[in-house]
Amino acid sequence: MKVSVNAEECTGCELCVNSCPDLFELDGDVAKAKVEIVPEGAEDCARQAVEDCPVSAITIED
Ligand code: SF4
Repeated sequence: MKVSVNAEECTGCELCVNSCPDLFELDGDVAKAKVEIVPEGAEDCARQAVEDCPVSAITIED
């Protein structure tokens, strides 16, 4: 599974950074994915982050 954040859409609310700190970090005032490939065991957190992002800025691909 791949994960990415659309910096054009992200508002920097930090929700994903707080809920999945292994996957996301702040880069200035927006979030970015810390990894390109989601590590084993973190897939559920990535899926939840996609659901929870208020501006749908997170994309995952299988
Ligand atoms: S939850 Fe969405 S808007 Fe909030 S920091 Fe993460 S990617 Fe950005």
